[in-house]
Amino acid sequence: MRALLLLLIFISLVFSMDLRKVRDNLYMAQGVNQLPSKENRGFMSNAYGLLTKEGWIVVDALSNPELAREFIKELKKIKDAPILYVIITHYHMDHWFGASAFKEAGAKIIAHRNLKEFYDSGEADMVLEGVKKSFPGVFDNVRPVPPDVVVDSRVKLRVGKKKIEIIPMTPAHTNTDLVVFVDGMLFTGDLTANERIPFMGDRNVYSKGWVEVLDRMIRLRPKLVLSGHGDPGGVEVIKWTRDYLVFVREKVRRLKDEGLFVDEIREALKDTPYKKYPMYDVFHLRNVYSVFNELDMEL
Ligand SMILES: [Zn+2]
Repeated sequence: MRALLLLLIFISLVFSMDLRKVRDNLYMAQGVNQLPSKENRGFMSNAYGLLTKEGWIVVDALSNPELAREFIKELKKIKDAPILYVIITHYHMDHWFGASAFKEAGAKIIAHRNLKEFYDSGEADMVLEGVKKSFPGVFDNVRPVPPDVVVDSRVKLRVGKKKIEIIPMTPAHTNTDLVVFVDGMLFTGDLTANERIPFMGDRNVYSKGWVEVLDRMIRLRPKLVLSGHGDPGGVEVIKWTRDYLVFVREKVRRLKDEGLFVDEIREALKDTPYKKYPMYDVFHLRNVYSVFNELDMEL
């Protein structure tokens, strides 16, 4: 009996989704800096809940409906108010694949128009089949759902007295990126990462455009930058990400101009000052490869 009790306590400690209060009326579920696994249950990205007088606005839907339901449960513990909207920052699995649970909870889903195309074309189902195989046990209950509202230009969403700006920022990290700007808070999805190596390996990545949208985001002068992974921070989070992107682009371009092949460039850029940051081992060399290919197209 005691063993069972200890086991239950252990399970609840491992699996509890403690929300972090970022500031008044803003809460986050903060995932770990890892790839999805059975152990982390795909909880490796952030989701945010913003409480308004009318109800909750959520940014990003986590990796699967199980995690999304836990997040909803925790939000309702803070305030038992309706979940009005969930805004999806881009089509990656860890930001979108929990959306069906929000839909069941009555929320309207808002996303970039290209995400709807990704869904309509059947590509989302193909990606889902792929990640089910790559990360067994994490995505089994995922059912991709299309957005109820699509965005392809800057729009203002009115919720009571609050004006929430939704601004597409594409193409950059993907071709479905958008940011959410409200009361000085900028929700950036994976366009920024607070001292964490960003992923530049999506097939729709466009690092040149990504640097440009980061400049646009700096000009918005946000007070608080809330990324899809890692800790909240100030405008320096945007600058840090920009510095890394520019660093990779310039290094790859120089070595390419010197006539090096991609494998030689990868070898030359294996060790960089960014090596100490999370996800370097997972993403950095893929980023180099991806930028190499992109620079081919820019010629
Ligand atoms: Zn992403």
